[in-house]
Amino acid sequence: MTTHQAWLDDVRPNPYADQLAIGFRRLRFVRTLEQEYRRYMLEDSFDLRRLTLCAGMLVWLAFAVLDFFLVPASTERWWMFAIRIGVLALLLACGLLLLIRRHIHLLVPLSVTCILAPGLGAAAVVAVAHTVDPSYPYEGLLLICMVAYFLAGLRLTEALASSVVVLIGYVAFELLAGLVLPRLINNVLFLLFGNLMGLVGCYLLEYKSREHFLVVRLMRILADHDALTGLHNRRSFDRQLERLWRQAQRESLPLALLLCDIDHFKAYNDHYGHQAGDAVLRRAGAVVADAARRPLDMAVRLGGEEFAVLLYDISQPQALQRAEELRAALEALKLRHERSDTAEMVTLSIGVASVQPADGGEFAQLYAHADRALYEAKAFGRNQVVA
Ligand code: GH3
Ligand code: MG
Ligand code: MG
Repeated sequence: MTTHQAWLDDVRPNPYADQLAIGFRRLRFVRTLEQEYRRYMLEDSFDLRRLTLCAGMLVWLAFAVLDFFLVPASTERWWMFAIRIGVLALLLACGLLLLIRRHIHLLVPLSVTCILAPGLGAAAVVAVAHTVDPSYPYEGLLLICMVAYFLAGLRLTEALASSVVVLIGYVAFELLAGLVLPRLINNVLFLLFGNLMGLVGCYLLEYKSREHFLVVRLMRILADHDALTGLHNRRSFDRQLERLWRQAQRESLPLALLLCDIDHFKAYNDHYGHQAGDAVLRRAGAVVADAARRPLDMAVRLGGEEFAVLLYDISQPQALQRAEELRAALEALKLRHERSDTAEMVTLSIGVASVQPADGGEFAQLYAHADRALYEAKAFGRNQVVA
């Protein structure tokens, strides 16, 4: 198994990175992540399960036809046929339920049923056939176990449990039908060894599937966030601005944008050094993050010493007040800045734009208005809010 520890040291703590760091050899995540993974798996394996079920029914039907050539006409053959038809009916019922996507929550029980029904059915068919012909092939049972491990979208525990039930069923049916012991032991050993291989393969597959789930989500977080401050980055902001603009149009709600720029930051960097500059950016980032309070709000580092706060469903006076609080909060940190012409400490200029997105309007307008206001805030002497 790969270890991610080395590169995870550089990543800010988040559930996916934490889970990768602590590992998941037992194929289990922490509770909330486990639920998320299972939801993802249901969606991800939906089409595979439907396909497997269709193919499975065809194969099952083919074996039913073969029985007529393999087993001589007898009551036993009719019993075998009856079992096969019963299983097929059950599979068809499950297939009909699976056709409708809103039954997705039933996917795991339905899939387990689609393994157990043909598994136990085949075990019964084989046992009945063995009363007539002990050389009747029993290996098809292994095929059903393999479907459980690899094609039914089941987790290892579900696949293993289903296969064990099928194997126990097989042994019970054969004992009832009176198959000679050496032959039964031979068959069971073959099935057990086949299952062992399925088990190992299924473990590796689920491990990789879980790893892929974590890494993809972690990459998405890394792609959307700024490494220094942990705030959203410009990419993420552009997407959210467009999305919120449309939502605000639909719901006729106002949208506000606060564009923030640290005053005389180049002079700060030149005087105190880049490391100290980074520390100021981190502190400023935390203050900016506090200004985004509701789920749809977003705090962003646009680049360099420029930040933005996108606020949903907020009036202009409220947006102005939020901006003023933000400006005052950074000032209150009293981060010394000897080279600032504005104040003795690090300060922030903020441009505020607040609009009610009209039909046909462009979201770029909001940015342009805020940028203009920021320009004026700087022109009027910095460390202030302009709307
Ligand atoms: P103004 O008050 O007009 O905004 O001027 P300013 O000096 O604050 O801004 P300017 O745009 O002239 O300079 C921004 C500086 O920010 C220049 C660059 O060295 C610095 N900078 C950009 N990104 C980083 C970073 O990640 N870390 C550090 N320490 N500095 C950065
Ligand atoms: Mg700047
Ligand atoms: Mg600046």
